[in-house]
Amino acid sequence: MHTPIDLTLNNGVTMPALGLGVYQSPPEETAAAVAEALRIGYRHVDTAAAYRNEREVGEGIRRSGVARDDVFIETKVWVSDYGYDRTLHAFDKATGKLGVDVLDLLILHQPAPTRFDTVIAAYRALETLLADGRVRAIGVSNFMPHHLDRLLAETEVVPAINQVELHPYFSQPDVQRADASHGITTQAWSPIGGITFYPGPWGDDRRSVMQDPTIGEIAAAHGVSAAQAMLRWHLQQGRSAIPKSVNPARIAANFDVFGFELSADELARIDALDTGVRGGPDPDTPRDAFFDLVIPEA
Ligand code: NAP
Repeated sequence: MHTPIDLTLNNGVTMPALGLGVYQSPPEETAAAVAEALRIGYRHVDTAAAYRNEREVGEGIRRSGVARDDVFIETKVWVSDYGYDRTLHAFDKATGKLGVDVLDLLILHQPAPTRFDTVIAAYRALETLLADGRVRAIGVSNFMPHHLDRLLAETEVVPAINQVELHPYFSQPDVQRADASHGITTQAWSPIGGITFYPGPWGDDRRSVMQDPTIGEIAAAHGVSAAQAMLRWHLQQGRSAIPKSVNPARIAANFDVFGFELSADELARIDALDTGVRGGPDPDTPRDAFFDLVIPEA
């Protein structure tokens, strides 16, 4: 196995670039997936209060035998827990379920622009948790450049991370540029395009990026899979990526991406696949159901 890549965040904290995602990982399969990932070398797991599997992520980490301090744990505060006191309490819920005292990265899951005052208050709570040493880094998710501008104007700490939908069919160059201009690391969700093919409320007219002929050609040239080629594209462009799998063979394949190199031309060919059409929800128009989801106590 080749050496994995680490990224240094804007506050000096080191984060493994490649992590395991667990959105839609059934709770009963999550602990095994996390333990398996850690067994083969992953040292970063991305979960969220809204995924309802933080408890099983914690169990998987303990089951793996890997020391807590050697694992980078990232989780997210859901919008119904925004607000200063509510977000401080969301930290208690998350750490209680995960069974840890300190989080490596805590991020706001959505910009919720229609209730931005609660976003600002939530972010101020993250700043307090950071100052108190309860979290090692803080950040945001699904923020577009204008959300970042609003946040930066009213808060002190520049987010370390912006986790956004990012795969070859929706690579958000404007968000990547805005993140870079502020020193924010871009982290790709659906990095292998899950949102373009997995079941869900996203419609049947989708085209799976996993089946894209250009990616197929590039992957074949390196003797790797489409997923591996996409992950390499993220890593070589300095992004973090958090592919999800509950399947041991795919968990391993997705981590076997440190031993080959795409050319500048291949990277550009993947960049050119961007359609500008997102697969997931528009961050500017959150659904009412977002705010109705209640995150249980630990
Ligand atoms: P993804 O990681 O791009 O794709 C996951 C899908 O691909 C699953 O159906 C998985 O099924 C399958 N898969 C995994 N490895 C594969 C491989 N090597 N070959 C073929 N299929 C493969 O999509 P995602 O889960 O949407 O995104 C990754 C993570 O980002 C999430 O788990 C979550 O942590 C985070 N996320 C965040 C947000 C947000 O709003 N911040 C939104 C979505 C996701 P199997 O499990 O059966 O392998």
